Amino acid sequence: MSEPSETVQVSTTQCWCCGAEFDERDLVRLGSHPEVGVCFGCARFLQRGAAARQDALVPTWSGRVRGAIRSVRNGVIARDLHNRPVVGRFLRRLDRHLP
Ligand SMILES: [Zn+2]
Repeated sequence: MSEPSETVQVSTTQCWCCGAEFDERDLVRLGSHPEVGVCFGCARFLQRGAAARQDALVPTWSGRVRGAIRSVRNGVIARDLHNRPVVGRFLRRLDRHLP
């Protein structure tokens, strides 16, 4: 006699970082754990965090430039400038091209 198996409904298109739902094509999967997917925005966030840690461990000129950009970005976010109507749009667009 077989026991009824409990089926757990897990969304495979949910970002494991922010929890939002995305199309499969808008997720990045981990190599050894393909069940884990993160959206592009969270993937960028994680990449920037990894770069910040690496820059702290191995100081370089390019790392100092990234650090200066991080400081400006944090200042913009602290002042909520990225949510202002006109300048916010420009700042968010600019940020897509920054390391
Ligand atoms: Zn996400």
